[in-house]
Amino acid sequence: MRKKLIAGNWKMFKKIGEAQSLIKEIAQGAGDLGGVELLVCPPYTALNAASEARKGTQIKVGAQDLHWEEQGAFTGKISWDMIRDTGAEYVIIGHSEQRTYFHETDDTVNKKTKTALKGGLIPVICVGETLAERDGNRTMDVVSTQTKKAFEGITKEDATKCVIAYEPVWAIGTGRNATPEQAQEVHAGIRALIQSLYDASVAEGMRILYGGSMKPDNAKSLLTQKDIDGGLIGGASLKADSFLAIARAGL
Ligand code: PEP
Repeated sequence: MRKKLIAGNWKMFKKIGEAQSLIKEIAQGAGDLGGVELLVCPPYTALNAASEARKGTQIKVGAQDLHWEEQGAFTGKISWDMIRDTGAEYVIIGHSEQRTYFHETDDTVNKKTKTALKGGLIPVICVGETLAERDGNRTMDVVSTQTKKAFEGITKEDATKCVIAYEPVWAIGTGRNATPEQAQEVHAGIRALIQSLYDASVAEGMRILYGGSMKPDNAKSLLTQKDIDGGLIGGASLKADSFLAIARAGL
């Protein structure tokens, strides 16, 4: 049985005090949520405070990106070591906003995934097609290429530590979610691909999250699909009540 993972991507929202308050509120409301794993991914500046605020709770903390080098002249970037130093345990890699605005490629996603694993961070690897790619019936091709490349050179043992997030680009922040059937079809395709790259046990253990306008009112129908093992949630993760309502739908 794969334990559902409900992850909040806070993007460029929440200063330190706000992050601490939100974690406190989530923790206070999460008493009945032992059956799901909760993860929040604040901006870098709030990572340490969030890691302190989560102590004694079931909430885990992750970063939203990392550089693939351990240190060096990379102005504006931070390394796995720095992320670990804040107390965070997860890292989002290859988010579509990174791909669209900051030159993330399948190659840099692969490098970052290798580095995260080497550094002991759990990667949440994002894949997903644009609207033009879906309309051109290229969804599975695009998602397969992104996934294959992300896992290139990654051992079976390391692959078991990874999480994948299927996030159709056209559904992120648009209020337009994939239907449960559309999402399930892609999730099943990703799981089959992981089986072909590794084996059935890796595929069966791999958590594949859905992301893209997941909200309290559509979460249940998505999270009850056979191959949807949680959510990566943007907008609705910024308030404790909506994040908790989504998490409850995953029980
Ligand atoms: C995201 O940024 O990963 C995301 C899914 O955002 P939203 O839930 O706002 O669509």
